[in-house]
Amino acid sequence: MTSYTANTRDMQFLLHEVLKVSEAGLPGYDDLERDFTEQVLDAAGKVASEVLEPLNAVGDKEGCVLENGIVRTPKGFKEAFEAMKEGGWTALDCDPEYGGQGMPYLLNCAVGEIFVSANMAFNMYQGLTHGAYSAIHAHGTAEQKATYLPKMVSCDWTGTMNLTEPHCGTDLGLLRTKAEPQDDGSYKITGQKIFISAGDHDMAENIIHLVLAKAPGGGEGTKGISLFIVPKFLVNADGSLGARNPVSVGMLEEKMGIHGNSTCVMNYDGATGWLLGDLHKGMRAMFTMMNEARLGVGLQGYAVGEAAYQNALAYAKDRLQGRAVTGVANPTGAADPLIVHPDIRRSLMDQKSFLEGARAFTFWGASLIDRAHLADDAAAEGLISLMTPVIKGFLTDKGFETAVLAQQVYGGHGYIEEQGMSQFTRDARITMIYEGANGVQALDLVGRKLAQDGGKHVMAFFEMVKAECKAHDADDRMKPFTDALKTASKQLQAAGMFFMQNGMKNPNAALSGSYDFMHLMGHVCLGLMWTRMAAAAHAALDAGASDKAFYEGKIATGRYYMARQLPACAMHLARIESGAEPVMALDVEQF
Ligand SMILES: Cc1cc2nc3c(=O)[nH]c(=O)nc-3n(C[C@H](O)[C@H](O)[C@H](O)COP(=O)(O)OP(=O)(O)OC[C@H]3O[C@@H](n4cnc5c(N)ncnc54)[C@H](O)[C@@H]3O)c2cc1C
Repeated sequence: MTSYTANTRDMQFLLHEVLKVSEAGLPGYDDLERDFTEQVLDAAGKVASEVLEPLNAVGDKEGCVLENGIVRTPKGFKEAFEAMKEGGWTALDCDPEYGGQGMPYLLNCAVGEIFVSANMAFNMYQGLTHGAYSAIHAHGTAEQKATYLPKMVSCDWTGTMNLTEPHCGTDLGLLRTKAEPQDDGSYKITGQKIFISAGDHDMAENIIHLVLAKAPGGGEGTKGISLFIVPKFLVNADGSLGARNPVSVGMLEEKMGIHGNSTCVMNYDGATGWLLGDLHKGMRAMFTMMNEARLGVGLQGYAVGEAAYQNALAYAKDRLQGRAVTGVANPTGAADPLIVHPDIRRSLMDQKSFLEGARAFTFWGASLIDRAHLADDAAAEGLISLMTPVIKGFLTDKGFETAVLAQQVYGGHGYIEEQGMSQFTRDARITMIYEGANGVQALDLVGRKLAQDGGKHVMAFFEMVKAECKAHDADDRMKPFTDALKTASKQLQAAGMFFMQNGMKNPNAALSGSYDFMHLMGHVCLGLMWTRMAAAAHAALDAGASDKAFYEGKIATGRYYMARQLPACAMHLARIESGAEPVMALDVEQF
């Protein structure tokens, strides 16, 4: 069976030596001293390996069951959920006014990675609650906040996000769920939502559904959409639970992975709901949380990859097959361990170099979200808005690829359920689809984000890359990083130029290359992260750090990424510059 240990050493390196949190000058960041974050991460790691990880396979095998209209979660989930609540883990970065601990979002992300790696399906119940909490916190009235937030911070009540309908997923303008205004200011919500994660379960007293619906008087398409709070149980004026709202689970979806999380068809039969935010501005309210939600899914992608990698690494050290081509490495054994073989090394290095880069990219993204929120920094807001589709799309594609690579290290045993490796690939797969399928992330990046605010954010990113390279000009040890990063950055700029020159006259020319652009940009971002990490590792070694193996390993892993992964940028650019013709050449009938 599988196991998982939180990589807190790497997280501490990122927080204190790369991001240098205590020097960031952001409210709450001065609390993030090394000893404190170590304690928090170690404690999270203990919960992850002792409570959550042992339930990962249980959740996968048992799944959720719909019994008499109520969803039952797998054995042990309820107790684990109580343990998470008691430990205060659900409240880490929430507003102290509503019972939260007021920690920065960055710390919540680090802890989130640990919990997702241990048990992604379980962690989604809390993750979705956090998303709904953020929406109410940002857009709710004082009364709504007082009614719902304390219970959601503690996870006594959980939350859901209801966008998708049978005929509308990406194109939300098509949605049909109706909201009819009532005399008392509430609305009657009628319609069907599908694929609703954590739509129902037995771990909370109440479930607060956030539902997109169309109220009268709005325009066509997404302009007419509003967002509503629809509780499973109505809440009385004194905060106690009242009547059951007519919202019910139509069925539970059978699905490829995340079996421990309930994916529900939700029927709203004239359920009572209250407007959240402005009428007909529901999409805006939803999008406020999009950076955070999409970063959370990007994190899921690599966090599952991390768990898969850890198991593949242990297996590669243990499993004896064949002999090293350079001479016997394990003379007392019948064969050498898999890890002696260069092709297994290639796979493990692909995994490790991606995962550490992805963690750095996500933590940096989380710090931008903190900077935007805590310091009202418009430049940080612009940058994270640009990066969001890359974090979501690139990290989930590569996270899934990592889980597959890890599975491959097990050979045939990776395909057998008993080993647990197939669960990682099945669980990771959804991250490429939900919260906006990755093709749509690429569309958002190229069609919207590149040109946002006159292209100022992408220009700022290019300047940032340039400045990073320049800062290490005098250090020859950094050349493998800065040379590769400069080349990749130029390729990214050339791709952007191609879109500018061709996209206006033929939009297909831009959109045929959008997916490649998302990956090209993902590599440049990870190249930037590796340059920063290598510089921090050199600085630690220069200062006589005792943990030499960690820093030397860091530099060698970074060099691998620059030498073996960044060259993919040239391929992506070539594909982009081939334009729309090869992609659009066939008539529909010719397929
Ligand atoms: C397990 C699971 C959990 C989910 N949880 C939730 C949840 O909690 N709440 C919720 O509201 N939804 C949820 N979803 C729904 C999920 O977000 C949608 O499935 C997803 O956004 C895609 O929508 P769709 O399935 O309708 O695909 P479609 O919109 O039909 O898209 C199909 C394909 O076409 C592509 N495509 C669509 N439009 C374009 C375009 N204009 N240009 C290029 N390509 C395009 C997409 O990238 C995709 O690959 C969940 C889904 C699953 C499977």
